[in-house]
Amino acid sequence: MILTLGKAKGKLAKRAQSRLFVKNNDLISISDAPAEGSTQAVPWIVICADDDASAHRATEFALEGELIEGRPVQLISAYSAAQTIEAVRNHPEAAALLLDVVMETPMAGLNAISDIREVIDRRALRIIVRSGGPGAMGELEMIKKFDISDWRPKNELNQARLLSAITLAVRGYEEFSRLDRRSAGLDAAMVFLERLAQDPSSEELMGDLLGEIERLLGSPIWALALEASGSWRVACGPAQERPEGFPGGRAMRGTLLGFDAEAWMGRSGRARKDLGRAAVAGSSLSTSVWTPYPIPDEVWGSEQCRALMRALSSALAGQEKARMEREALMRDPATGMFTRQGFIEKAQGANLGTEAAVFLIDLAGFARVNSALGHEAGDEILREAGKRVQAFAGNFPCGRIASDAFAILMPKASFSAEGIEAIFEEPLATSAFPIPMKPRVSAALATSGESVGAWLTSAAAAMEEAKAVSVSGGDARWFDPRSKSLALDRMALSQKLFAALREKNKKSLFMVFQPQINLADGAVTGCEALIRWKDGDSFVPPDKFIPIAEESGLAMEISEFALSESLAMMKRARTAGLALPRVSVNISPVEFESGDLRGRIEGHLARHGSHASDLMIEITETAAAKDPESMVRILNGLREAGVKVAIDDFGSGYSSLAQLARLPIDELKIDRAFVNALGQHGQFSGIAKMIVDLGSSMRMEVLAEGVEREDQAELLRVLGAHSAQGWLYAKGMPEEEFFTWIMANPDARSKPR
Ligand code: C2E
Ligand code: CA
Ligand code: CA
Repeated sequence: MILTLGKAKGKLAKRAQSRLFVKNNDLISISDAPAEGSTQAVPWIVICADDDASAHRATEFALEGELIEGRPVQLISAYSAAQTIEAVRNHPEAAALLLDVVMETPMAGLNAISDIREVIDRRALRIIVRSGGPGAMGELEMIKKFDISDWRPKNELNQARLLSAITLAVRGYEEFSRLDRRSAGLDAAMVFLERLAQDPSSEELMGDLLGEIERLLGSPIWALALEASGSWRVACGPAQERPEGFPGGRAMRGTLLGFDAEAWMGRSGRARKDLGRAAVAGSSLSTSVWTPYPIPDEVWGSEQCRALMRALSSALAGQEKARMEREALMRDPATGMFTRQGFIEKAQGANLGTEAAVFLIDLAGFARVNSALGHEAGDEILREAGKRVQAFAGNFPCGRIASDAFAILMPKASFSAEGIEAIFEEPLATSAFPIPMKPRVSAALATSGESVGAWLTSAAAAMEEAKAVSVSGGDARWFDPRSKSLALDRMALSQKLFAALREKNKKSLFMVFQPQINLADGAVTGCEALIRWKDGDSFVPPDKFIPIAEESGLAMEISEFALSESLAMMKRARTAGLALPRVSVNISPVEFESGDLRGRIEGHLARHGSHASDLMIEITETAAAKDPESMVRILNGLREAGVKVAIDDFGSGYSSLAQLARLPIDELKIDRAFVNALGQHGQFSGIAKMIVDLGSSMRMEVLAEGVEREDQAELLRVLGAHSAQGWLYAKGMPEEEFFTWIMANPDARSKPR
């Protein structure tokens, strides 16, 4: 499309028939086809400013059909200073201005120059001043001040002189605008260098830089950075277009997509230009750009291009460095695998297309090995296991997302239970000895619309269930969305419990006391303190909230509460003159792991002015068997302090008697299940008798729990059990009710301790 402004006349009008011409700037012509016989070259735009119409005619006539430096001239006419300024404004590409000094005012033309140079900032435009005679105000000064190319008397301008004046002017214009472009380009490069210094890894900077270079080259480009190993690490596509067949966005990781950008570039016939090497954190990075067709060497070689390319190369290095830093955060130093964060990032970027799932692989019993053999052996195991899991995962995202848990995102169809079993068939090598490990697998569908973090949470919930039923083996336990609500329920419950414990006076929590009865004479031998939690209108059974308290770190507070309330109750019982020898308080296993139990118990005894013999603590058989070494130490300490110890739920934990024999224990509590089985046929029926025999042989008292019927009590008495606890006598009662019960119990009253 060619836009021509000017007046048509003579030869020019005939030769450019398809163009419309303008008389006195009142018409604008637009033509799509170049005029017949006219040259294809872009015309020089020359503005002719004169209030005298004959000057325009003369100029047109002189330039008609002439080529200057191989290009025709297109004249733009202006008849006043105002029109001149307007024309300059509208024609940034104008090369020369033929300017009459005297127009609407004697100085109009000269005044226009300062506007053109300083206001419109047109510095490349060459100005040829045509005056009636030599100027009175000092030509040289004007020429210097306003960079006027030429100053000629009007009468001197014949065709030859005009042509040579305009030829000189357009050459000057060319030189000027080249310098201008260059300094603008260098300015841009400077700006980029400054931005680079601020944030070398900025994607926005990279985009702008690519855009600037594309403008300079007149061609779209792709920038690539390659590691020494040959795998490319950073790719930045052209700002707008993404070539057919190239996956991903503007910045991508070839290794992840398994896509070799370099090969693709080569195949799709692109031209490569190497930018040199940059050292990034010890590894050498070669950077290059690719263009759809070769770019001439002069373009590459220009100072401006070289400056921008250097900036580009630094920006690529900056991006690579940032990527390596991110990667380092995403790498687990022990195994070299992705961390949880790394896995999430990889998984987010992966597009598996088919039905995919997150698989968690947990090493059953790892914690035990870790604490038995030390962390170095633990790390060896993890490294070895990690290698195998990684090999199993192949190119699918895979990482170590928790201490002994690995995660893989892969299509459901690619996972095989046998495959996982197989990789753990051989024991894991450590420097000490090979250790066999069984994997436990859980899985959750990678439901679209959910985050990777949510998939992991679901898979972890399924893992918890897998652990609870103590399955091992390759078969994955799948996450059941219904159990999600269970997990949420548990979380909500733990929050409520937390609030209940924070409550002033802990109104919703209280203790009830269940009497323990001497089977021989019916006297009260003590009581068990049982916690109650009234959440709103309903009671939450302790079997439900105690495990949650243990998980969420609230068990300690519960014990503190139970101890404190129970000892306070004992004190009031004594003041009331009741014969209540002691209270048994349940202590959860986590209490033994967390510090100075003896110290805390002694603190409670002192605070309440209680005797140590007022208190017995109950620990479950499983807790006692878990870490016998430290248990012996702790229990000996308690015994030294005068506190008695009972083993709760005895018989249900199948622990070795040899282990228990070493523990300083005062009482065995026969689990309710065996009491229930008493007198019935079946595998449990004889156990109560065995426990009673065992207890007496080790000089322990034996208490039977959950005694509901008289016949059970009778049998236990015959078997030799010392005492019993159960609904046959009473359920757990709040303090006041409990006191009333004791006073109403004749044996209890008649047998002061
Ligand atoms: P546990 O220590 O074995 O407590 C005995 C449980 O058996 C109590 O249930 C008691 O109410 C119940 N029980 C007593 N006699 C009978 C009976 O004749 N028949 C039947 N079917 N049940 C009987 P509760 O109060 O629901 O407590 C359940 C468990 O919660 C306790 O089992 C104990 O492990 C835990 N627990 C309760 N209070 C506390 C506490 O203050 N601290 C800690 N750490 N755990 C507690
Ligand atoms: Ca108990
Ligand atoms: Ca029990």
